[in-house]
Amino acid sequence: MTETAALRTAPLRARAEIDLAAVRANVRALRALAPGAELMAVVKSDGYGHGAAQCARAAVEAGASWLGTATPEEALVLRANGGLPDDVRIMCWLWTPGGPWREAIDARLDVSVSGMWALEEVTAAAREAGLPARVQLKADSGLGRGGCQPGDDWAELVREALAAEGAGLIRITGLWSHFACADEPGHPSIDAQLDRFREMIAYAEEQGARPEVRHIANSPATLTRPDSHFDLVRTGIALYGISPSPELGAPADFGLRPVMTLSASVALVKHVPGGHGVSYGHKYTTAGETTLGLIPVGYADGVPRHASSAGPVLVGGKWRTIAGRVAMDQFIVDLGGDEPEPGERAVLFGPGDGGEPTAEDWAQAAGTIAYEIVTRIGSRVPRVYVNEGQADTP
Ligand SMILES: *Cc1c(COP(=O)(O)O)cnc(C)c1O
Repeated sequence: MTETAALRTAPLRARAEIDLAAVRANVRALRALAPGAELMAVVKSDGYGHGAAQCARAAVEAGASWLGTATPEEALVLRANGGLPDDVRIMCWLWTPGGPWREAIDARLDVSVSGMWALEEVTAAAREAGLPARVQLKADSGLGRGGCQPGDDWAELVREALAAEGAGLIRITGLWSHFACADEPGHPSIDAQLDRFREMIAYAEEQGARPEVRHIANSPATLTRPDSHFDLVRTGIALYGISPSPELGAPADFGLRPVMTLSASVALVKHVPGGHGVSYGHKYTTAGETTLGLIPVGYADGVPRHASSAGPVLVGGKWRTIAGRVAMDQFIVDLGGDEPEPGERAVLFGPGDGGEPTAEDWAQAAGTIAYEIVTRIGSRVPRVYVNEGQADTP
């Protein structure tokens, strides 16, 4: 029995089951939606809480040719220990001065450069390494966050990058940008950003840049804006089977299936009288005689405290709502007199087709987005991988 197989059957306090067949199916669905583009599986922040290496391997098996992370450290770990084919491209974009440029060059990462300080550091590291760095120039086409401003700043960055390329220190492998409002279809900034991005690409190419890939689309743009796909789409949340926003549609509308199922073992069921205060602060009081169930996961496990008195859980075939406050390690549900056996599985969220809530339901209960729900599941919750083998056929 592999360790994962043992965990799957063990009566765990809590587990986040990760369905790797769903990752593979989601990659195939996304590739079908963006047939002219390569696919970058974005696996930052431990694969949005799902496990970066496992999800990266599944995504690559299903046709992703690029992986994306925020930090260089995440990318270096993937390259060294990810168990990935050597030719998979790995890009990282969130750099700070003094970052591990030399290690990134040696690991054949594609690095993002948004400004002159980064270009200077990466060229210095490349000189030392005796190897050209793979550099992707990031344009701020209107997000107003990272990226190089259009105009003089872009002209300077492009000029100096081309000079470094001419000197054999870097290879400009990509020109790229990121959307502000792609999850709001019809938002005027989307067209404006596409126009600006095309202009910034055209300028760099007129000056002599020959990027392998130009890219701007995240999950929502991949799902809704084929004209934003260019050479590569960078999908994160959709890879994990979650819709970027309920306004765009449900995952199934795009052929996507949620990957994570979070469950816990009911730790205690007990009878209490009416008028009994429940959990810290007594924010909930039983209306009458009832049963309470103790669910042994809390905000340290990523159950949002903001979902106090609101988060849904499937227990014994019924949706129950958190009674009172979420504590660090546990919360209570009012079972209304039902008496499920201790040890029964309470499902906080999953794909939804077993009647359980979804990560989107939790996002709404906590006043946040489903991205945050899955990403914050704590390290104390074991990830249990299912459908690891590629038994499914494309
Ligand atoms: C996180 C991230 C993505 C993926 O976004 P999703 O909406 O999850 O698809 C793409 N590009 C960049 C730069 C990111 O930081």
